[in-house]
Amino acid sequence: MKIRILGTAAGGGSPQWNCGCPECEEARATGRSRTQDGVAVSGDGRAWYLVNASPDLRAQLLATAELRPPAGTRDTPVRGILFTSAELDHTLGLLGLREAAELDVYATAWVHEALTTAFPLHTVLSGYTRVRRHDVRDGEPVTLAGGLRVTATVLSAKRPRYANEQAPGEAVCAYRFDAGGRSFVYAPGLAAWTPAFEKAISDADLAAVDGTFFTEDEMGPARPASGMGHLAVREQLPLIHARPRTRFLFTHLNNTNPLLRPDAPETAEVVAAGAAVAFDGQSLEL
Ligand SMILES: [Zn+2]
Repeated sequence: MKIRILGTAAGGGSPQWNCGCPECEEARATGRSRTQDGVAVSGDGRAWYLVNASPDLRAQLLATAELRPPAGTRDTPVRGILFTSAELDHTLGLLGLREAAELDVYATAWVHEALTTAFPLHTVLSGYTRVRRHDVRDGEPVTLAGGLRVTATVLSAKRPRYANEQAPGEAVCAYRFDAGGRSFVYAPGLAAWTPAFEKAISDADLAAVDGTFFTEDEMGPARPASGMGHLAVREQLPLIHARPRTRFLFTHLNNTNPLLRPDAPETAEVVAAGAAVAFDGQSLEL
């Protein structure tokens, strides 16, 4: 299985366009910027699937050799897109794929509903291309091209702010990919380390997980990480340390997160627990 980490920042990216906080200033000064989260996964190195389509997707696709069209063709190795949520930072980029002949989009029925009503992305896109909606169900494996199998695990009912009118449901999920006996879990929005999530990561070779906030109170006491659907990194570290079988990477970093700085003591804490911070363009093979 091949994995390309396309982007590793939470919504807004790092630096964020309208933010002059020390972390964003540092990102500007050093050029250590991060695009908004997404990964590409392939079982055979030819058929690729994107997980999440951030507003930065066009630049991510252009920067990734494996995702370019074969020379002389008007084609793409991208065979489908999977959404972990209906959040804008995970879905806006789909509009940028409207030149495709067709788009196979995988998400929970709840996410597809949000993308048809409150934010009618599918409806808008259907004027440009053929959108094929595939509903993923909690715990039910789906066969993809290139020897890849994917299983969704529902993690929370945390709704995007634009969809607060929609009845709560399966709003956030993780995906576990299996190919050739190896496995990779992608969970950029982990509200809690639930038994279902435990099951999803059991015996996994690699997991890229929610690194939005390092601490519960990073945004101040009025905006706890848990209230925004994110389990703080520091609370995950003992759980990760107890699972040496799986390699853990943190992704979806908010622009307040000290892990943005490689020399921060918090980054050393992550390394001491046996984990690491993912980076844009990271190439992994299992
Ligand atoms: Zn900032």
